[in-house]
Amino acid sequence: MTGPRDFGAPFGSAASEVPPLLRPPAPPERPGSEQPLQFRTRVQEPVLVDEAVAEPDEVVLGPTGRPMIDLPEPRPVVTHGNARIISMCNQKGGVGKTTTTINLGAALAEYGRKVLLVDFDPQGSLSVGLGLSPHQIDLTVYNLLMQRDVTLEDVIVPSGVPGMDLLPSNIDLSAAEVQLVHEVGREQTLQRVLAPAIEHYDVILIDCQPSLGLLTVNALTASDGVLIPLECEYFALRGVALLKTTIDKVQERLNPKLKVEGVLGTMYDGRTLHGREVMQRLVEAWGDTVFHTVIRRTIKFSDSTVAGEPITSYASTSGGAEAYRQLAKEVLDRCPDA
Ligand code: ADP
Ligand code: MG
Repeated sequence: MTGPRDFGAPFGSAASEVPPLLRPPAPPERPGSEQPLQFRTRVQEPVLVDEAVAEPDEVVLGPTGRPMIDLPEPRPVVTHGNARIISMCNQKGGVGKTTTTINLGAALAEYGRKVLLVDFDPQGSLSVGLGLSPHQIDLTVYNLLMQRDVTLEDVIVPSGVPGMDLLPSNIDLSAAEVQLVHEVGREQTLQRVLAPAIEHYDVILIDCQPSLGLLTVNALTASDGVLIPLECEYFALRGVALLKTTIDKVQERLNPKLKVEGVLGTMYDGRTLHGREVMQRLVEAWGDTVFHTVIRRTIKFSDSTVAGEPITSYASTSGGAEAYRQLAKEVLDRCPDA
């Protein structure tokens, strides 16, 4: 190498050989660029709540693109009972049903609600996510459904979170799907066995399996409301019509009180245009059914699952924990009787 070659440019190709010591000169001004670019005024373009500090007269949009609402602090409850039953339902796997069941439950328990979580997925992820080993569980939801001499008290275990209990499950439950087919009132089986729990709890959350089979129909039949977690990815929007048809059929034929409690955007990444577009589509399709609360994508959820506890205790001050507390407020605001 004889030294830097001269390419006739002030800097560029030879940069790797001779690092420039001086800041490169500013590029020459292009004709017509004397005028500064015209930015839209801030009033016309409201800012996203987490991307700027709001000023008093600004419209603050939440991550769903709608103005944020003020959620009241939940009122303390003195007596428990008359539980509202909510199913987490989506036939797609990996959308945040189990994560939402654990963390919404734990956040509701923090607000003084007595909560029962029902693991209604033979994979038993809810039980595992709360630190239970599937093989150590003696009695499960399966025994409760299939054996008339097994009672709720026999099966319910503490979840490790104060005020929150768990009806655990394991792979045995997959047999129930087949065996229930021959039962009288097969769609109402869960409703029947859960009935005695209603007077002891304020909220019962059912974690459904990723299918629209008989177990899920049982969950919908037992419920007052459905919460639909949807991953903020394009493919997540597919299949929602089928889910809605199933909910409508159960509502018409088996459970007139059933309503869609809300659609929850999960694993949201507001930094990507894709994430924001999917959110926009969700709001176009479902309107105000979409919760203002959005759950962002963060690895802390997987970490807390490994630790076997909710994010509200594992990473109590994290954004994920705060988001589920906000969801708890929003759920309580939508159904004040809970
Ligand atoms: P489902 O019950 O619908 O199958 P899960 O709640 O089990 O879905 O979530 C699937 C996986 O995604 C789990 O590993 C979970 O820890 C992870 N997860 C859930 N919610 C989030 C989130 N908001 N950000 C990142 N990972 C998440
Ligand atoms: Mg699950």
